[in-house]
Amino acid sequence: MAKTLIVGEIQKGGLRESTLELVAIARKLGGEITSLLIGSGIGAAAENLAKKGGGRVLVADDASLANYTADGHARAIRLAIDAEKPELVLIANTPIGWDVAGKLAAALDCGIATDVIKIEQDGSDLVFVRRMFNAKFDARLRVSGSPRIATVQPGAAEAYSGSEAGSVAKLDGVGGDSRTKFVEVRTAAAGGHDLTKAEIIVSGGRGLQKPENFDAVLKPLVEALGAQMGASRPVVDAGWLPHEYQVGSSGQIVSPKLYVAVGISGAIQHLVGMKSSNFIVAINKDPDAPIFEVADVGIVGDLFEVVPALAAAVKTAKGG
Ligand SMILES: Cc1cc2nc3c(=O)[nH]c(=O)nc-3n(C[C@H](O)[C@H](O)[C@H](O)COP(=O)(O)OP(=O)(O)OC[C@H]3O[C@@H](n4cnc5c(N)ncnc54)[C@H](O)[C@@H]3O)c2cc1C
Repeated sequence: MAKTLIVGEIQKGGLRESTLELVAIARKLGGEITSLLIGSGIGAAAENLAKKGGGRVLVADDASLANYTADGHARAIRLAIDAEKPELVLIANTPIGWDVAGKLAAALDCGIATDVIKIEQDGSDLVFVRRMFNAKFDARLRVSGSPRIATVQPGAAEAYSGSEAGSVAKLDGVGGDSRTKFVEVRTAAAGGHDLTKAEIIVSGGRGLQKPENFDAVLKPLVEALGAQMGASRPVVDAGWLPHEYQVGSSGQIVSPKLYVAVGISGAIQHLVGMKSSNFIVAINKDPDAPIFEVADVGIVGDLFEVVPALAAAVKTAKGG
């Protein structure tokens, strides 16, 4: 790989973890690395990225870039691409990343692979791996032309932890008018169902089939274990449970002592949210479900039989 441009992301004033994951991927591929950070007053974050393996860090620093707009970000990234001529552009598959990446690919008329979980070197070519059909298959994609854009799932790689001597340079010509106007950020109310502090979580997925089964089937196990209830995204999207129950890349990132995944396939976006749990139990009727790849104990069976039996066994063990 001759040259990679990493588009980093700032979150709450610091580097988003996914930025250092992109650094790890780029360093594994080898070649020259340039990074780009976009925002306002982000000098310290840029210095930090330079020390943490981001190579030469370009800073698009302008008051008009304080809040994300697709226009402002796309303009800054295009300036960096024009200046650096990278062969590969890495962007995290976050809400900002997936919004800007498509716009960028269309504007540059270049190829893009989205939702990537792995990038492999194959001779002089690259193969982009992404999950398909609810993680039942891995697609292996080649993208022709230069530059190529890849959006990479947060959590797909361990964050780079080395320290390097990088440098920081200002990117000129950024900022200016945008057709999109930033209005406000609305943050969900704090409190409520905070799974990040739970010691035991029992999460239910689409395998539970209907909302009533969360009370009828899952809740007795939740109560027997003294756990909190979690859910996969389709459960939340269907309105069966509120968003604060969602575990995963677009929900809560949890690391309880015990995580029980019930009727959850184990898509990468769910795994990102729970794979650092201390002990994982998965219940699924499909022996090939990807959730078993991260499970310490896997139970292949019908959840409608396994979960009530487990709840009864826990109660008995606790003397209840
Ligand atoms: C940008 C983006 C962000 C996302 N963010 C998230 C996120 O934050 N969190 C998240 O969870 N997902 C997220 N997703 C969705 C994710 O890709 C998957 O679609 C989702 O995790 C699948 O949910 P599931 O496992 O409940 O459903 P499915 O994939 O449908 O799996 C259901 C599972 O239940 C099993 N099952 C069915 N019946 C039974 C039974 N009777 N007994 C035992 N097992 C049974 C099946 O074998 C299957 O494995 C995101 C997707 C995108 C594109």
